[in-house]
Amino acid sequence: MKTRRAKIAEIIAAMPSTPSEIARTLDLSVKVVIEDLKHISRSKKYGKLVVQPARCLKCGYTFKAEIKVPKKCPSCRSTWIEEPRFLLIPL
Ligand SMILES: [Zn+2]
Repeated sequence: MKTRRAKIAEIIAAMPSTPSEIARTLDLSVKVVIEDLKHISRSKKYGKLVVQPARCLKCGYTFKAEIKVPKKCPSCRSTWIEEPRFLLIPL
């Protein structure tokens, strides 16, 4: 049996994915996925976690590359946000 984190690592090693996509694929909550991604980023055994930052789809504002899903654009207040994508690069 693979652990939940190993399954998440496998998904993002294959293709950059958003927390919602990962949550849907593994039938988890986004909150759990975010917690696991933080853990994966601190662990050496999965590889290097790369964050493609979230972006506001209304004004183009680029968020900081963080392991979280922003709710609202600080620039234009829009909630039309493209989630960050995460991928793993083998070390
Ligand atoms: Zn915006």
